[in-house]
Amino acid sequence: MNAGLYVHVPFCRHRCHFCAFMITTHRDFLADWERAVIAELLLRGSAFPETFDTIYFGGGTPSLAPPDSIGRIIDAARKHLTVSPDIEITLEANPGDLTARDLGELHELGVNRLSLGLQSTNDDDLSFLTRHHSAKEGRDAFLAARAAGFANITIDLIYGLPHRNREEWRDRLGAALELEPDHVSAYQLTYEPGTPMRRFRDKGDFTSLTIEEEGERFALTRRWLAEAGYAPYEISNFALEPRFESRHNWKYWEGAPYLGLGPAAHSFRDGRRWWNHGAVRNYVRAVDPKKGEESLTEAQIRLEMMFLGLRTVRGIRIENLPEGLLDRPRTQSYLDQGLAEMVEGRFRLTSRGLAVADGIAADLGGATTP
Ligand code: SF4
Repeated sequence: MNAGLYVHVPFCRHRCHFCAFMITTHRDFLADWERAVIAELLLRGSAFPETFDTIYFGGGTPSLAPPDSIGRIIDAARKHLTVSPDIEITLEANPGDLTARDLGELHELGVNRLSLGLQSTNDDDLSFLTRHHSAKEGRDAFLAARAAGFANITIDLIYGLPHRNREEWRDRLGAALELEPDHVSAYQLTYEPGTPMRRFRDKGDFTSLTIEEEGERFALTRRWLAEAGYAPYEISNFALEPRFESRHNWKYWEGAPYLGLGPAAHSFRDGRRWWNHGAVRNYVRAVDPKKGEESLTEAQIRLEMMFLGLRTVRGIRIENLPEGLLDRPRTQSYLDQGLAEMVEGRFRLTSRGLAVADGIAADLGGATTP
């Protein structure tokens, strides 16, 4: 199985109120970060004899790293890892960060998939989400990326905002689809512990959607995207054609080996998982940035694969399911209710099942905990 390389770029202009990711607003560490990422690549690369066919610059805000810096990391990967000639290189970008020249440079360097953090096509939504850009800047950024030669652009959208009805979400989605993105990641707004958004909701500044409303928005989102030609292949991910599916994300969902570089990045290979220091200061100063590791048993791996696989339309190969899962009455009841099905040697959730995938996975997982 080919491997994937993830590079965590932890810098952001500010912290958005809904975000719980490991980020920093101190960009004075940028040069140190690049040096430490390349050093880590040299340190760990030899443990991965596989061919790498994806590189993913995620964050944080990778578009805050200068293209030169991204280029030097790609060069180091090409030099020190075995890299496939048709590698997918994704970079997450926020509208407003990249000039036409930056976009052209990144494309030249081999970045061939741009993930644009649009989030909404409405200024009130963007301001509620404390995003830095306007709807117009989002649109301009998309068009500039196309003009720079990006033939594979995915956009991120957030729905389920409080006090927005379904028609308003439909309008936002419609305006985003007018840009003709190749791929859409649509996420329901969540209220992660510790975030300002959670605090504001809990003290009554606004009322979040009910579970029923969330379920309805999820189903409508899938329906509207499908009507526009975007096939769902994971709970939050939709592709205009199979070739636009995120090759990199499939690695996580199907248990492929991956090497994660940068603060808080996780890696996985041969049943072993390890992770780095989360604080940028600690990451850049460490001789070896690994903070911890664990070995997973065969049963734990199968269980994790089940949690991830149930979120995708491919599901899980029957031979990779947790032992005995298919014989359990709970599993049978999901099959009987039409929430799950067996197709071509795989166990997967149907459309109706995917709407409640996390609940089904937790239920089946509870029944099979190793
Ligand atoms: S830009 Fe993205 S990663 Fe940074 S704080 Fe906002 S949501 Fe989080």
